[in-house]
Amino acid sequence: MTQDKGNAAQWRPATRLVRGGTRRSHFGETSEALYLSSGFVYENAETAEARFLGESDGFVYSRFGNPSVAMFEQRLALFEGAEACRGTASGMAAVTAALLSILKAGDHVVAARAMFGSCNYVIAVLLPRFGVESTLVDGRDLAAWRRAMRPNTRALFAETPSNPMLEIVDLRAVATLAREAGARLVIDNVFATPLLQRPLEFGADIVVYSATKHIDGQGRCLGGAILGSAQYVMDELTPILRNTGPSLSPFNAWVLLKSLETLELRVTRMCDNAATLAGRLVGRRGIERVLYPFLDSHSQVALARRQMGAGGSIITLEIEGGKAGAFRFLNRLRLFDISNNLGDAKSLVTHPATTTHQRLTPAERAELGITDGLVRLSIGLEDVDDLGDDLNVAQGDA
Ligand SMILES: *Cc1c(COP(=O)(O)O)cnc(C)c1O
Repeated sequence: MTQDKGNAAQWRPATRLVRGGTRRSHFGETSEALYLSSGFVYENAETAEARFLGESDGFVYSRFGNPSVAMFEQRLALFEGAEACRGTASGMAAVTAALLSILKAGDHVVAARAMFGSCNYVIAVLLPRFGVESTLVDGRDLAAWRRAMRPNTRALFAETPSNPMLEIVDLRAVATLAREAGARLVIDNVFATPLLQRPLEFGADIVVYSATKHIDGQGRCLGGAILGSAQYVMDELTPILRNTGPSLSPFNAWVLLKSLETLELRVTRMCDNAATLAGRLVGRRGIERVLYPFLDSHSQVALARRQMGAGGSIITLEIEGGKAGAFRFLNRLRLFDISNNLGDAKSLVTHPATTTHQRLTPAERAELGITDGLVRLSIGLEDVDDLGDDLNVAQGDA
């Protein structure tokens, strides 16, 4: 196999997304090959021995590494500006492995409470079973982060913007707090995508993705990724991944690798569509509130503009009439599909209170601001005027 020609580190971002990490076989294929193989063979016994000793480069077993997976990892690392990346089977495998790699019994984690439901399970339910305590805070409140710190705090975890309230965590401030305490900051960067926000540049130590969302962006594959320093990935993360096995399938890695080629085009278009629609929805009859990070009415718009390149592809609405009003809105949409996924080419709509956040108690939902009238829109790649027409009909204007 031959590596990419030229110096990938000097390429501009768009070039990295198309060509980063490419390794061609002796056939000289244009499109990267799919190495759908669980294992690898050796020319002789000596080579096998050297490979296992780590004395010769090459693949051993796809739980440890695979050429298609490695191309995806290198391409994403180059784009993110991280020294190293490892792919995982899903976003949750990435979150779990990242936390397991830096925590042990007796440690303490502080996390922003507005997080993906399964992240909440891992941090508030699973880790405590193994002696890792956690404190959940309002991620927007720096004083709350500070108050929650303990001498044994070893990890800070946050998602920004958060799901579905689009709350913003001040990455630079929380990273400074982590550094001063000798803890590491782990950022779930799914909503922002690597195009809009680079947490490592603000001082985060580890970035995790659900590649299922915008990176695939076409609703096909589950996948995840963990990015950080080469030393962290080699010494702390790789042993966890090798021995517990949340490996990314070569097939999914290949789909995700090819998806990265169009990530910038897709996410830029989705954000343009979302910004346009968010602006049009403000002040409309039947819609009590429009949440979008780059709207001037967003309570943290200045911070959002400081750390994100665009407002993202998600808009959250408060519909008049509570659950009945929200259900009427969902059921009248003809173009938007009702689905709990996001970041897809197809525009999707979710009612968080009865789906993604159903497991929470009403009090917990109230604390997060997830009312019965709340609706989350994931804006896709359709013509923005068709999406606008659909929203007009749903809201009862047409
Ligand atoms: C979807 C999602 C995850 C989990 O990813 P999967 O690929 O579904 O396992 C984690 N965090 C956030 C913010 C997500 O949106």
